[in-house]
Amino acid sequence: MCGIVGYIGKKQAYPIIINGLKRLEYRGYDSAGVALWNNQSLIYKSKGKVSDLEKLVLGQDINATIGIGHTRWATHGEPNDVNAHPHMSMNGKFVLIHNGIIENYSQLKNKLKDRGYLFKSETDTEVLVNLIEYVYLNEKLDAETAVRMALNKVIGAYGLVIFCVDEPDKLIAARKSSPLVVGVGKCEYFIASDATPIIEHTNSVIYLNDNDMAIIKRNE
Ligand code: GLU
Repeated sequence: MCGIVGYIGKKQAYPIIINGLKRLEYRGYDSAGVALWNNQSLIYKSKGKVSDLEKLVLGQDINATIGIGHTRWATHGEPNDVNAHPHMSMNGKFVLIHNGIIENYSQLKNKLKDRGYLFKSETDTEVLVNLIEYVYLNEKLDAETAVRMALNKVIGAYGLVIFCVDEPDKLIAARKSSPLVVGVGKCEYFIASDATPIIEHTNSVIYLNDNDMAIIKRNE
């Protein structure tokens, strides 16, 4: 188990995400990371505790009202800074956090390598984010459809939240055999692996079912 926290709204995303990740620490993890969007992707991640991530981020640009955060429990690739989530796709179009295991990642990785994809980490998650980007760019789809099409090619378990730089006012979430909860606030939305990080912000929560996707848009 690991932890997922996402935020989109009017407040600063970083403190909400960090506090949320701390609330999920009880689930166990070996590394932590956060991605924020403010006209560019700001990604900070490190092996160790959420408090180590906070030290890394100290003094960095964290000004953003949308972001995703993750605590990782390594299944593919050792716990280190590179394997920590979030993972960005090779051409920088998508940033992904993922909880679970992509069982057919090796076959997918080989196919992507044949198509010119390069990998920085040893994770199954980086394969997934590159697969989504490959489908998005090659089929010329919107982000939501590309995620759906890519997930149809995946065998495994996932709770995931993904961000597309071409559609920056939106978070896309999907789950299969790994829980995800959406919190609905006033002009703001939260997403997390369980309700613990959300209840201090809103009582209104939606538990996603297996095979559900959630498209969470700012101001809607
Ligand atoms: N399989 C992924 C990895 O090893 C996600 C692990 C998790 O659920 O934290 O990075």
